[in-house]
Amino acid sequence: MEITIRLADATDIDTIFDIRTSVKENHLSRDQLAERGITHDAIREALLAAPCIWMADVNGTAAGFAMADGAEGSIFAAFVRPESEGRGLGRLLMDKAETFLFQQHQRIWLETDGASRASGFYRKLGWLPVACLPGGDVRFEKQKKCAIYLGGCLCGAIRFEATGPALNPHNCSCKFCQKHTGALTASWVEFPRENVKWTGPGRSPATYRSSEYSSRAFCGNCGSSVGAIDDAPTVALLVAAFDDNHAKELQPEYHSFKDGAPAWASVA
Ligand SMILES: [Zn+2]
Ligand SMILES: [Zn+2]
Repeated sequence: MEITIRLADATDIDTIFDIRTSVKENHLSRDQLAERGITHDAIREALLAAPCIWMADVNGTAAGFAMADGAEGSIFAAFVRPESEGRGLGRLLMDKAETFLFQQHQRIWLETDGASRASGFYRKLGWLPVACLPGGDVRFEKQKKCAIYLGGCLCGAIRFEATGPALNPHNCSCKFCQKHTGALTASWVEFPRENVKWTGPGRSPATYRSSEYSSRAFCGNCGSSVGAIDDAPTVALLVAAFDDNHAKELQPEYHSFKDGAPAWASVA
């Protein structure tokens, strides 16, 4: 059995209605859907506005879909054909829809019948019931998990714990960064000051006032560069000082003072 999760396009709309009207729980006919404003044209419009529907194909045939409302931050619908239940399609579809919504929202929501099996399924995926609504529906919410990044200097005296999201990932090859790190190019990410805790035995790093608005931070014992502490409530950390710097969100989005590094610095 081959399962593929992919983005839907306009040619999937009839199939989406097919799946939606095939379910037993929370069943609605096409007419009932139309009464609620859920028509072929409405779905087409939503699809054109943003990639917001994912299809689950089993051996090349669509067996389920999930639809998110990016503006609202909600899961609008998630359905799997009865004969394809129990294959983990719902979980895979929800994963896509949640990831999409968490790119724009810290907290996302959905509403479903509190007595339904779906409601138990959402609980298993970490959704929390937050309100009972008239008619037996329950509002569920899920909060974005914050990544925690650990790192520190070479000797271990300076340790940090930074709570994500990691902002503004970029490279810099300016002279300050070069002198500060001893590297031709430094990779940086930024955090609000209150999201960075200094947890090592050396407490806060030593600093050197490098410009009118920023201080370079380093270990007073081993000399490792760890970051820059701005007067603005921002702490920039050097990605190379992280214990693990493979996370995708740490990938630089641009390169400041690129000309500061010699052309020979990049080796393909
Ligand atoms: Zn050190
Ligand atoms: Zn720089």
